Amino acid sequence: MKPPPFDYHAPRSVGEALDALDAAGEHGKVLAGGQSLIPMLNMRLAAPGCLVDINRLTELATVDVEPGGVRVGALARHAQVERSGRVAAAQPLLRQALRLVAHPVIRNRGTVVGSLVHADPAAELPAVLTLLGGSVRLARRGATRDVPAADFFTGPLESAAGPGELAVSALFPLLSPRSGTAFREVARRHGDYALAGIAALISLDDDLRITGARVACVSVGPVPVLVDVTDACGHRPPASADWAAAARAVQERIEPEADIHATAHYRRHLAGVLTQQALRDAAREALDA
Ligand SMILES: Cc1cc2nc3c(=O)[nH]c(=O)nc-3n(C[C@H](O)[C@H](O)[C@H](O)COP(=O)(O)OP(=O)(O)OC[C@H]3O[C@@H](n4cnc5c(N)ncnc54)[C@H](O)[C@@H]3O)c2cc1C
Repeated sequence: MKPPPFDYHAPRSVGEALDALDAAGEHGKVLAGGQSLIPMLNMRLAAPGCLVDINRLTELATVDVEPGGVRVGALARHAQVERSGRVAAAQPLLRQALRLVAHPVIRNRGTVVGSLVHADPAAELPAVLTLLGGSVRLARRGATRDVPAADFFTGPLESAAGPGELAVSALFPLLSPRSGTAFREVARRHGDYALAGIAALISLDDDLRITGARVACVSVGPVPVLVDVTDACGHRPPASADWAAAARAVQERIEPEADIHATAHYRRHLAGVLTQQALRDAAREALDA
């Protein structure tokens, strides 16, 4: 199928883009990497009256390591962030997660910020932002606001980015010392959206006891599900942590749904197994940090 007709704008500055989005109001949509939006247009699942193509806004193709975290501009492609050694050193979870996002061809075009705004509950990056407590910077004509991850993902394929707003960047906070991260998922084929996935973060104190353990779950709820499992793990050294109790805590919190890919029961089972694996991996990283 072909997309329904739409007006097309290709602004050359952020200011021009904000003007075009303001004029389009609720009929406007941003076109970034197009890896999700173009298929939706072609299948007529979306029918915006106006597309604002941000691909000429090279000023947004930035990835910066700041004191507060890794700031990823709206035109930074998945591949650009994945390949950055500076990013991997500052916030390893980004590379760990991006390697699981689709295929290299899609990662060459798709953008990190586009994935966040798209807010697919099966996508990896919304879980990463949620786990790390990051935020998305939204700009509209004459105003900018930072929205924390906890408020940004509002439902399946729904985010806090409203009509007239452009997500200009996202901030992924750095890890504290003696912390480790991991991402584990199960997909039917490599590159498919995950049937279930777990991003994990472990922090240790100077005696190498667990002081913080949390996970963000993918594909088991309408938005990423954040679960603090510090108490369940038992505030012990990783070697004697109760990973099984942490897995049970996660299974009790999530509300997976059945679809053609998996039953709700299977998704809950996967979430438990993946929680244990991801926490163990993250603990190993924390011990090496
Ligand atoms: C075959 C296939 C497999 C895939 N597998 C995975 C996977 O396993 N995991 C995964 O996470 N993703 C997967 N994806 C999606 C991919 O990661 C996309 O790149 C991502 O979802 C959207 O990024 P994009 O830049 O292409 O956004 P687009 O497709 O351009 O836009 C997506 C949505 O976000 C909005 N948007 C984009 N950027 C902005 C912005 N800066 N400000 C405001 N609104 C904006 C658009 O208006 C649109 O509504 C897959 C895609 C394909 C085609």
